[in-house]
Amino acid sequence: MAEHDVIVIGAGPAGEVCAGRAAENGLDVALVERELVGGECAYWACMPSKALLRPAQLLAEVKRVPGAKQAVTGALDPAAVLGRRDEVIHDLDDGAQLPWVEDRDITLYRGQARLDGERRVRVGDQLLTASRAVVIAAGSGAAIPPVPGLREIAPWTNRQATTAKAVPQRLTVLGGGAVGCELAQAWASLGAKVTLVEALPTLLPGEEPFAGEELADAMGDAGVTLKLGAKAIEARRSDQGTFTLSLEGGEAIASDELLVAVGRTPHTGDLGLESVGLKPGATIDVDDRMRVTVPAHADWLYAIGDVNGRALLTQVGKYHAMVAVANIMNREATAQWDRGLAPRVIFTEPQIAAVGRTLRKALDDGIPARAVDADLGRTPGASFIGKGAAAACRIVVDERREVMIGATFTGPEVAESLHAATIAIVGEVRLRHLVHAMPAFPTRSEVWLRLLDPWMP
Ligand SMILES: Cc1cc2nc3c(=O)[nH]c(=O)nc-3n(C[C@H](O)[C@H](O)[C@H](O)COP(=O)(O)OP(=O)(O)OC[C@H]3O[C@@H](n4cnc5c(N)ncnc54)[C@H](O)[C@@H]3O)c2cc1C
Repeated sequence: MAEHDVIVIGAGPAGEVCAGRAAENGLDVALVERELVGGECAYWACMPSKALLRPAQLLAEVKRVPGAKQAVTGALDPAAVLGRRDEVIHDLDDGAQLPWVEDRDITLYRGQARLDGERRVRVGDQLLTASRAVVIAAGSGAAIPPVPGLREIAPWTNRQATTAKAVPQRLTVLGGGAVGCELAQAWASLGAKVTLVEALPTLLPGEEPFAGEELADAMGDAGVTLKLGAKAIEARRSDQGTFTLSLEGGEAIASDELLVAVGRTPHTGDLGLESVGLKPGATIDVDDRMRVTVPAHADWLYAIGDVNGRALLTQVGKYHAMVAVANIMNREATAQWDRGLAPRVIFTEPQIAAVGRTLRKALDDGIPARAVDADLGRTPGASFIGKGAAAACRIVVDERREVMIGATFTGPEVAESLHAATIAIVGEVRLRHLVHAMPAFPTRSEVWLRLLDPWMP
């Protein structure tokens, strides 16, 4: 039996940050990982998808800027893109992560962790006990919807779609959320003929309507065939290995690979949750301090990141980790900016970057809200991004409190602009104060002059 102060289950971004911060606070930490230190994010999700998307976006940007455009005479090199992707994911080897763990004196256990009652975790035949806390950071895997035949034909999930060694000729993507859109665009840029099937009538229904519309247009420009409002009713695979996805209404789409990107399932099926009275297979409910909401375990059991289902984003998992460690150290902290309010970016071309509430959500929440729209493309800084780039922007304002409660940007590289809005929203900066935050010239940040003009005395 090995005793530790804290046991963290899962070494994805949430678990790593949690283990690191707990160790930096002087605690004796055990970190248990059954696959790779770095988690889904580092090897099969955030990092490889961005590595696949970036080259085509860079090329598009260069081609928009005369002078640079003339220097680009070739096309994208798919083999080199896949090679760079492999570098980014370290060829699925987590050796580069280990010094970070060792430097903090964290004890790493390799294997499947299972809870075994209060403060006890089993890893193989080892029993670990935690004097202070057990933190579940087990993450999530791709969900397979109950479309007849789909599970049996072993479709691609994000795992294969981020690590494939060759470009499929034809790819069908089921699901038009962030993952489906990013991977559809990435493989289309590498030469695949991509069809994206989405049951809802729009892309990104939770975001401002213009975001989904711009993205749908861009998908078309990138050669992706969109089937919106289309319900998949059956999936089959032929003896030759090709896939057929049948849609309600009679259409059938043939492809060489079929990617399922319709949501996530928490990794809680084989975690021993029943030993502490929780339901295996379900997301783990937590309070705002990240403590599991079963009174008997509220003082020692935490769940952070995807596994608690509050918002499935890496930055949210890291935020949860910080909140959990503060509470483990008896410094009370609560998470208030996760769920639907968290900053979020879809790294397509154009990027969609949003934080806080959309206008619709604000009104639904009973907030006296109004929106201010502006065109990023009309700023002097946009001249250098090149002609024809998407460039919409909206802020949502609580008129009663005179603060910003939401913001959405579309366009190349707007991900990097999002944090300014996040700071203003989280800091609840009065708009009459914000007007004095002058943006540098010539940048696209000058869009803030237009957005905030109504509050300039
Ligand atoms: C294709 C794709 C692209 C994405 N892109 C982005 C993006 O750009 N930005 C963003 O913010 N989010 C993105 N996400 C979401 C992001 O990947 C997740 O929100 C993030 O990985 C969650 O982190 P986590 O630490 O909670 O879980 P994970 O990263 O899933 O890590 C959990 C770890 O726990 C381990 N584990 C599970 N069960 C056990 C057990 N019983 N014992 C031991 N170890 C266990 C797993 O092996 C895994 O290593 C993307 C997701 C996908 C699918």
